[in-house]
Amino acid sequence: MKKGKKLYEGKAKIIYATNDKNLVIQYFKDDATAFNNQKKTTIEGKGVLNNRISEYILSNLSQIGIKNHLVKRLNMREQVIKLVEIIPIEFIVRNIATGSITKRLGIEDGTVLREPLIEYCLKNDKLGDPLISEEHILAFEWASKTEIDKIKKLILRINDFMIGMFRGVGIKLIDFKLEFGRIKIDGKNEVILADEISPDTCRLWDSVTDKKLDKDRFRQDLGDLIPAYTEVAKRLGILHEQSNVSAVNVTKLSSVKIKKK
Ligand code: UDP
Repeated sequence: MKKGKKLYEGKAKIIYATNDKNLVIQYFKDDATAFNNQKKTTIEGKGVLNNRISEYILSNLSQIGIKNHLVKRLNMREQVIKLVEIIPIEFIVRNIATGSITKRLGIEDGTVLREPLIEYCLKNDKLGDPLISEEHILAFEWASKTEIDKIKKLILRINDFMIGMFRGVGIKLIDFKLEFGRIKIDGKNEVILADEISPDTCRLWDSVTDKKLDKDRFRQDLGDLIPAYTEVAKRLGILHEQSNVSAVNVTKLSSVKIKKK
């Protein structure tokens, strides 16, 4: 597979064309942004860890029949993905209230929700990804009713699976963000899971201590982001227990090409 020109550069990832018009390469950068791009930095090794963690979660979701864009990981920072038309909505899934919802609605931080709560945000950086309702989605035709109904069912399955997966390794899945894309499979229009699932897009707390193992370490200046992401990768069995992944190690690793599957 040949890597072609850059098609798109986002805050944490770059998309490159390939010689197959249906496939693109997703490159994970080390850039971290928060609060609608007002806070920015580079954290060496973050992209490498997110690439591995997202590959692990998406391939596990494939195994339970949840179609997604991942084809295969190419190397430490890149994966081949199916080209989809991204639905311009961020689907936020909450199991425990924290972050923006606590401020917006005056809910106590850490409130356990009786059922998972799905919120919709319009993917628009200029507008600060505003919260929208299902009625807005239908009124402005950002997605159809059929698509939204399918996505809601998928979200609940993904949430159930991920809660169990993380619980098994002593981590609470507090909330996360998903994106979906349109694609034609065998001539049929389908909606599949896209983007990434990683500690950049999930809130993950240690089950016993409530230690934050996600991007809140950057948002809230808690430090030690790489050790926290490494801990998540180790607990999921992606990295070996004994491997001590410091930022420097991860950077070294990132230059090592992994054998194609
Ligand atoms: N999230 C994300 N990208 C965004 C907004 C939110 O990945 O652009 C994730 C975030 O990491 C968290 C969840 O979605 O796991 C809910 O975030 P929230 O709305 O509470 O955002 P914040 O408190 O960061 O404003």
